[in-house]
Amino acid sequence: MSLSKPLLSVVIPVYEECDILPDTLKTIVAVLTSISSEFEIIVVDDGSRDASFAQITAVHDYDPRIKGIRLSRNFGKEAALLAGLKRANGRAVITIDADLQHPPDLIPKLVEQWQAGAAIVHAVKQERRSHHSVAQQFKNLLRSERREEGRLYQWAQYAFNWAFSRAAGFDMMGSSDFKLLDAKVARLLVERFPEYGRFYRGLSTWIGFKQALVPFTVQPRSGGNSHWSVGALMRYAWHTLTAFSSVPLQIIPLLGVLMFIVTLVLGVEAVISRLSGNAVSGFATLEITILFTGSLIMIGLGIIGRYLAQIYDELKRRPVFLVAEEIGFDEKD
Ligand code: UDP
Ligand code: MG
Repeated sequence: MSLSKPLLSVVIPVYEECDILPDTLKTIVAVLTSISSEFEIIVVDDGSRDASFAQITAVHDYDPRIKGIRLSRNFGKEAALLAGLKRANGRAVITIDADLQHPPDLIPKLVEQWQAGAAIVHAVKQERRSHHSVAQQFKNLLRSERREEGRLYQWAQYAFNWAFSRAAGFDMMGSSDFKLLDAKVARLLVERFPEYGRFYRGLSTWIGFKQALVPFTVQPRSGGNSHWSVGALMRYAWHTLTAFSSVPLQIIPLLGVLMFIVTLVLGVEAVISRLSGNAVSGFATLEITILFTGSLIMIGLGIIGRYLAQIYDELKRRPVFLVAEEIGFDEKD
């Protein structure tokens, strides 16, 4: 650990953001300076192939409070956040996106809540209206902080947050990765959660302690592009849900009950038609019933398969990320 602990650490995960990174850093430095001069900014380059890391190095050269970590490849935002939290030295750590969708102006409010005694301060997204085409809205499915937050996207996000809140047992509505963590909480998140499939938003709520909420409105991206395709978002939603909770496994017995009810109804119908002298309707019913049964079994197997894959991933105990290079940290850190 370095000798002097800064008041604040800001962790920014970055993947190919060279168009906007210098501006973002300038904005964040200005906001932090208004609070205290004791801060560090840890920019985690998540395997960008563009000039992002060169920019971080250049900025570090004239402001050593800005430090850089370069991961050996693209490991994803969750991994980048963890890499930053691991190296953060401040008495509080703030996580924020590189694209200014999380307004840095909110940082003083987060700090205020922390100074008033909260161990975790969540910036929570407020509803926003938009009028985009369905196709556009589909592209925005299931993931927060999009440039265009369409209505369909909001519903999907709402459904995901609802399912997640149900599965996890706590409120995830409007949740984002823009947060402030007390150093003690950041250390717990790094040291006590060895899981490979991580979900920062979920864990930082699950962990408990005194938590506070500060509302904000999602801003449009300041430049560059989001790196999420619709497929990637759906996979992300499904993986985080199953990584965090085993509740989806309970869908399988529900499917069983559903099938049983259908069986009963069809059985009763068959008996009635037999008694009333009609022949039991034959082939189509049989075919549909077999297909129906088959699809429910496949869905059940799919859910079990997902958990099997999850166990496999956890069991291998591979590192969540690997560091290629660091700049600005004391050797002792
Ligand atoms: N990001 C990252 N690794 C990735 C993808 C994204 O570190 O593999 C960073 C990205 O640079 C940004 C933040 O995570 O700072 C949010 O990403 P993005 O804006 O693409 O997602 P969205 O805001 O659309 O959810
Ligand atoms: Mg974004």
